[in-house]
Amino acid sequence: MSESTTDVDVLVVGAGITGIYQLYRAREAGFTVHLLEAGGGVGGTWYWNRYPGSRFDSESYSYGYLFSEELFDEWEWEEHFAAQPETERYINFVADKFGLKRDIEFRTRVVAAHWQEASRSWLVTSEDGRRWQAPFLITAVGPLSAPTLPRIKGVDAFKGEAYHTGLWPKHKVTFEGKRVAVVGTGATGVQTITEVAKTAGHLTVFQRRPNWCKPLHNRKIAPHEQAQLKASYPAIFQQCQESFSCFLHTTYPHDTFDLAPAEREEFLEQQYGRPGFALWVGNFRDMLTNREANRAISDFVAGKIRERVKDPRVSEMLIPKDHGFGTRRVPMESGYYEVYNQPNVELVSIADTPIEEITATGIRTSARAFDFDMIIYATGFDAITGSFDRIDIRGVDGLRLKDKWAGGPQTFIGVQVEGFPNMLMLVGPHTALGNIPRSIEYNVDWVTRLIEHMRQRKLTRVDAKPASVAAWTDFVHEKAKGLLSNEVDSWMTGINQNVEGKNVRIIARYSGSAPAYRARADKVAAQGYAELTFE
Ligand SMILES: Cc1cc2nc3c(=O)[nH]c(=O)nc-3n(C[C@H](O)[C@H](O)[C@H](O)COP(=O)(O)OP(=O)(O)OC[C@H]3O[C@@H](n4cnc5c(N)ncnc54)[C@H](O)[C@@H]3O)c2cc1C
Repeated sequence: MSESTTDVDVLVVGAGITGIYQLYRAREAGFTVHLLEAGGGVGGTWYWNRYPGSRFDSESYSYGYLFSEELFDEWEWEEHFAAQPETERYINFVADKFGLKRDIEFRTRVVAAHWQEASRSWLVTSEDGRRWQAPFLITAVGPLSAPTLPRIKGVDAFKGEAYHTGLWPKHKVTFEGKRVAVVGTGATGVQTITEVAKTAGHLTVFQRRPNWCKPLHNRKIAPHEQAQLKASYPAIFQQCQESFSCFLHTTYPHDTFDLAPAEREEFLEQQYGRPGFALWVGNFRDMLTNREANRAISDFVAGKIRERVKDPRVSEMLIPKDHGFGTRRVPMESGYYEVYNQPNVELVSIADTPIEEITATGIRTSARAFDFDMIIYATGFDAITGSFDRIDIRGVDGLRLKDKWAGGPQTFIGVQVEGFPNMLMLVGPHTALGNIPRSIEYNVDWVTRLIEHMRQRKLTRVDAKPASVAAWTDFVHEKAKGLLSNEVDSWMTGINQNVEGKNVRIIARYSGSAPAYRARADKVAAQGYAELTFE
């Protein structure tokens, strides 16, 4: 291990859309900044997830950065919901425009970050033993960036091609004539299955539980729309700013049963036909709190699945029975259900016949042995806290973050953890998420103002007060009450059967509105950060 350390003012970990904006902001503010990134390029989610069919569920122009109108004007999105290659190009364009790559160390996986009280700095170590030291450690490690394989016997035994969607290779992968298995039917699985089914010789989908999916209705952006979009910058900005979760869709300001059945049906039909998350985040305001309302909406979507899938046995397999519409992440689809009408596609329920083993030639369930040329694991991520857990983060007196969060995360406004001074989290637990870039622009600006505040006053240490953490954590838990989404197992409630110990529901997400979150965090700053302790 090299004993030399590189010293900077600010260390950022993660070169996704969050980390590179933080690098830009901190550098603009006059700090020396280094960004450490495990991957070989910028983009984060859009660097790693190059699986077939990978694309936005947010409208492209609502997802790209909005901090600069000039930047907004310079980039022309090709599609209303861009596919991964375009988003990766976009993030590279931003990084190049601002010359950010010169301060990024690629292929650098951070394995440890230890607080050093004596020097009031973080000592950060990479997998290959390089070291950095900085007063401020800013984590931008991603909410969905720690991929998980299923915990099944023999997962390394398969001799054919095997891929995880979140670690998809850069080389071309073809499916023509191949016998392909896809394990997993979450948002990623749905996108992958739809694309692979187009060319695979035979596709077998292994489904543990179905999800409620909604048509994305993507299309190219026509030249005349480009001009309209450019003119709409203020409106897009404003709409994202004001909506509950920063999307262009806003909650419908009525309860489900305020409308007569025919009107309700008409409204749901209209939202089903609109692009993107309309039916999810633009639905009746009581959809996720009133069981009867949720059932009515779920029944409507079940009807759509029955209409679209010809074989009633298969359509019943595709209709979720254990959770209502919108209570788990709703995958957006472009012809997903019709895939099951194809003769080359088979759906296998691994709830009924569990996978017992991955073998050298395929997959063996409790009922059958299957031979495959390729297995694709669309088995997702150890969400929200997973990337933190994979780093040995130690605060005051060597306290491990993983231990501190053993019973669930505790944070102050999702940015700080008591006992981990000068560590500032972006897109960590308990912060506002939604249409994520909108939330991160706010968080990055907030964090940058905090470290500028400290520099101006020659302060070298900031920590959250225990009472502030307790109050915010209680508030987050309170907000989560009554939400049907917190009554089901999903990555959003901290459940991942593929990760040891992640079998107890936790409240990892803030369920309030983004405007309320911003108002609260603005108040913290306006009141001179009285909820934090400085030295
Ligand atoms: C397939 C997919 C589709 C999505 N679609 C949408 C969408 O339509 N709308 C939306 O709002 N959100 C979407 N998301 C969520 C998405 O994660 C966020 O929108 C956003 O990309 C998060 O950006 P980030 O920079 O915070 O994290 P990421 O993009 O995940 O970047 C984190 C980076 O940190 C790096 N990193 C992590 N740990 C370490 C370490 N120890 N050392 C060094 N580097 C490390 C990773 O390599 C990664 O590059 C999607 C997620 C996925 C997986």
